[in-house]
Amino acid sequence: MNKPIHDYTKGSTAKFLEDLLGIEFSVFSTAQLEFIKDVPFSEIKMIDGYAIYTDNGDEYLMFAYLSKYKTKRWGSLPKFHTVECKTKLGFSNFSFSNKMPVDIYSKDEQKLLKDQYLRMCGNCKHEHMKSFWGRFSNIEWYDAVLEYARNRKIIVKRTDEYTAQWKQISTAYREKKGWQCEGCLILLKNLPDRKFLHVHHRNGKKSDNREENFQSLCILCHAFEHLDKVKQRKGFIQLDEFVSLKYEELKRLKNKYLNEWLTIKNDYFRNV
Ligand SMILES: [Zn+2]
Ligand SMILES: [Zn+2]
Ligand SMILES: [Zn+2]
Repeated sequence: MNKPIHDYTKGSTAKFLEDLLGIEFSVFSTAQLEFIKDVPFSEIKMIDGYAIYTDNGDEYLMFAYLSKYKTKRWGSLPKFHTVECKTKLGFSNFSFSNKMPVDIYSKDEQKLLKDQYLRMCGNCKHEHMKSFWGRFSNIEWYDAVLEYARNRKIIVKRTDEYTAQWKQISTAYREKKGWQCEGCLILLKNLPDRKFLHVHHRNGKKSDNREENFQSLCILCHAFEHLDKVKQRKGFIQLDEFVSLKYEELKRLKNKYLNEWLTIKNDYFRNV
């Protein structure tokens, strides 16, 4: 379990600091995907054959899998399904989750196999991954999410202009990129670091969720794609937190914005 840490960038503390310092916190906040699993089938909506779960305005493509499985007899882990393929129709009692890994109980070895990355079922590959078919031998959960996002016809938006599936899409893309910044190549894979890795829309359109429109960027590289916001001191504190924490590494990687950021920051603090 992750211990909840008090987030001073939200709520009344944030308001107080924002007024005091003339800065804004929330601009560069990033979407984190909570693990949703064991959703009962009655709460799943089937849309165009896909299992979709909606929670608080957020939307998730769900993966159906058998959480209890004869791993010894079949000599493998169960597969996950994204559509009502002919294999899936032959079984019932599926569990649904919105990402991998998941826990599987081996019925014939009578033990719990924790944190397993399941593979996509072959028939689902045929039906779901049409544009990818043949290019991948193995399809990961994040490929399925990105492919689904690419092909969606009806796009549901949240109030902040992002699409309802954004938390899942953004996490899927960062996972695919190994939690690395595509700008300066800093690795932000450890859980507390992940909030500093964002997904940037190259063309600026937050509803254009084709993979080629994405770029995973650390908060520093991302900020300089939106320089106007930095100059308005938006996201200042998170940037400062990140640079203080990763200064040596950013220097070693020769992050091209490091010096510029330090200049902007020092100019600002000289003037308050
Ligand atoms: Zn299937
Ligand atoms: Zn970077
Ligand atoms: Zn951006």
